[in-house]
Amino acid sequence: MNKVIEVNMREREYQQCTRCVMDTSDKYIVFDGKGQCNHCTEFIERTSKLTYQGKLSEQMLNKELEKIKKSGKNNKYDCLIGVSGGVDSCYVAYVAKNMGLRPLAVHMDNGWNSEEAVNNIKNVCGKLGIDYQSYVLDWEEFKDIQLAFLKSSIVEIEMPTDTAILGALHKVAAENNIEYVISGGNYATEGILPDSWFYDPKDFKLLKSIHKIFGTRKMKSFPAFDFKSEAYYKFIKGIKLFYILNYVPFSKEEAIKTLENELDWQNYGGKHYESKFTGFVQSYIQPVKFNVDYRRATFSTQICTGEITREEALKELKKLSYKEDTIQAEKEYVSKKLGITINEFEALMNAPAKTYKDYPNSEKNLNFIYGVYRRFFGKKPMYIIKDHQSCLICSSIDLNLLAGYEYNNLVKCADCGFVFTTQEPTEKELLEHYNQYSRDDYLPPLTIKRYNELLDEMEVYRKTNNLLDVGSGMGYFLEQAKLRGWNVYGTEFTDEAMSICKSKGADMRQGVLSAEWFKEGFFDVITSFEVIEHINNPQIELSNSSKILRKGGLFYCTTPNFNSFSRRYLKNKWNNILYPEHLSYYTTQTLTKVFAEHNLWPKKTLTTGVSLARIKSSRHNEKRFVPITTGSADEILRNQFEKGAFYRRLKKLINSILTLFRLGDTIKIYAIKK
Ligand SMILES: [Zn+2]
Ligand SMILES: [Zn+2]
Repeated sequence: MNKVIEVNMREREYQQCTRCVMDTSDKYIVFDGKGQCNHCTEFIERTSKLTYQGKLSEQMLNKELEKIKKSGKNNKYDCLIGVSGGVDSCYVAYVAKNMGLRPLAVHMDNGWNSEEAVNNIKNVCGKLGIDYQSYVLDWEEFKDIQLAFLKSSIVEIEMPTDTAILGALHKVAAENNIEYVISGGNYATEGILPDSWFYDPKDFKLLKSIHKIFGTRKMKSFPAFDFKSEAYYKFIKGIKLFYILNYVPFSKEEAIKTLENELDWQNYGGKHYESKFTGFVQSYIQPVKFNVDYRRATFSTQICTGEITREEALKELKKLSYKEDTIQAEKEYVSKKLGITINEFEALMNAPAKTYKDYPNSEKNLNFIYGVYRRFFGKKPMYIIKDHQSCLICSSIDLNLLAGYEYNNLVKCADCGFVFTTQEPTEKELLEHYNQYSRDDYLPPLTIKRYNELLDEMEVYRKTNNLLDVGSGMGYFLEQAKLRGWNVYGTEFTDEAMSICKSKGADMRQGVLSAEWFKEGFFDVITSFEVIEHINNPQIELSNSSKILRKGGLFYCTTPNFNSFSRRYLKNKWNNILYPEHLSYYTTQTLTKVFAEHNLWPKKTLTTGVSLARIKSSRHNEKRFVPITTGSADEILRNQFEKGAFYRRLKKLINSILTLFRLGDTIKIYAIKK
């Protein structure tokens, strides 16, 4: 007991962000060296990447619209829109209608709607010719739940409303066989909201337990929504959420103008609310009782988008969050509507604040379930992440989403045909990804044999006696080369790989290949096994490689073949499509083209191999790398092919055919520097 009090006593020292106005009233806020907080930093990153990105977003949108229309072609409606009367949801109705969709608008009525909001919904739906349906909650029951939440003294007072919206929309969608729920959620204007201010409304156990403790009646008709119903609606009923505003140019100001001019929509301003209860909660209960002032988050968002300055926000925040002259009347109104006296309300305001952790909840289960979900289904972005604005090879800005690979963020350059992901992984993403790997120490004997066959071919280039393997991995190739008397050099990223390669006698450099590290024309041979698909600056990498390679020297490069039979057969299930590991997808054409720009001329180009293990694992949706072990299908087959002259000849024949049609899994290029 004492310990708990001690921890609570040690309040965090007050700090405010130097860029936005978020502060330690969010107890989990983190500041960087410049005093800028995680909220504005993440917001700026998010909005620049995930909002409307021109042509690519339009291509993605068209694909989605096609799917939505197809899903509802035998139905009166092809999508459902939840409308609240506010800007975002009304603008969604406007956009959806203009895109040729046939939406059903649903309004969840919890008994607190302002007249203006209801009028807006009526006007917008009327003018657009959209059918509109109200989902009215049983007021006595809902009142009991709301009052229970007030009594629980947790900051998430609006959780019953949020849950009811989710529940009601899904329920109506399922009843009408509608597959798509179009949400007004968007990255452009929906801003900062700290986790500590808002807990997951899908934790129905929390809602039930609070209602059980503080409520007075049985829950009968409340539209429950939890992860089980989410799974049911998603997987059994096939209902999907689509965030349409991320695909169109969207600014609040423009949206308001459009709605006012075309649909008789009325702006009741930021200080009023669609719901009288929401307004009261956000302007009075949350700031006064919990020191949680939503204005802080709203202003911070507006600072990031340039709508207001930090000084203006600070000045506004000095003012009370509620109106002093009307607050008494508001208190009376809310108390009366909830069926309590003003004194009872004041007692609730004065009761010590608690958190959802003080009540039975499913946080642990939810974390576990979402963890499992992410593991199995991956995180498929439903939006374009456009870090790269132009082609990585030819700098053309004429990029198109690659049909069938939209959700992998793959684009194809209209000028040179190069395929790559526009997404650039962050250091964090790369670390997380590569940490899943365990280093496999098994080197199949056949690989040693292949390396030596390759080294045989390299003998004719031996002059300076220097050989470099870019991205040396476990150093197996360098080890074989060293046995043949080459001076072996390598590059790697992690300390672990560096020391493994060094222990095998390689002269190592750490990091991205730099031309500064070696004299011009230093190497006879540079090898690059499965490296070039990992990098997103092939031009720099090849320019550096070319510089340090001597004239007449050999550049040997292998990479997965995007034109391979496997990729054509497996399409986007081809597990070489693996973000954030693989960023570029070469064909012999694109690779040859970029080589030529650096004076590297292909002497021999092969596309060989069809990996059964890869096809098998790809078909089972395993996104992980399948290591070659003695028992794997590939290794058994490879050994089989080595057994007799017949099999060796058969393999040669298969590989010639694969090369002839450029269909093999792996491109192998032997390029000579001219
Ligand atoms: Zn900030
Ligand atoms: Zn290009």
